[in-house]
Amino acid sequence: MDFKKFITIVEDFPKEGIRFKDITTLMENGEAYKKAIDDMAQFAKDKQIDVVVGPEARGFVVGCPISYALEVGFVPVRKAGKLPREVLSVDYGLEYGKDSLTIHKDAIKPGQRVLIADDLLATGGTIEATIKMVEELGGIVAGIVFMIQLDYLDGSEKLKNYEIFSLTHYA
Ligand code: IMP
Repeated sequence: MDFKKFITIVEDFPKEGIRFKDITTLMENGEAYKKAIDDMAQFAKDKQIDVVVGPEARGFVVGCPISYALEVGFVPVRKAGKLPREVLSVDYGLEYGKDSLTIHKDAIKPGQRVLIADDLLATGGTIEATIKMVEELGGIVAGIVFMIQLDYLDGSEKLKNYEIFSLTHYA
């Protein structure tokens, strides 16, 4: 399926010079959304995944249905101050900003095989921070999936030691 047909490019959002890739139009199409999730779940199928981890908010939109398809659990990664129990926290840089991410300390058990899911790989800052948290908790990052990979940024360079699958690439 040509997933790019369902992704909308919005010029100058959230600020000038950024060509924002909007996946809400893909999600609105039941057939495209299902096929996208099925393809990502297929990539992960033989990787003995124990749990899927996704950063808020679009990582939930991608990661939760994959965890359902794989019949494994889902662990949310959230901005500081959102998770109610004891968290591990990591600072990270975004394509446009800076923030910190958190995960519940007991959410990943040592030795668990983790699939990380997000909508888009830009600079890789978000996923690098997510990997750091998973590995600090003793998890093994067995794969990483994205709907979109921006090839003009060096995100994949940061992830070169991991198995990545992206549904679409933008040059
Ligand atoms: P990174 O940390 O620089 O790789 O940025 C990736 C994160 O920023 C993802 O979680 C995306 O949700 C968000 N993001 C960055 N650029 C875009 C875009 O063009 N469209 C949608 N989300 C974006």
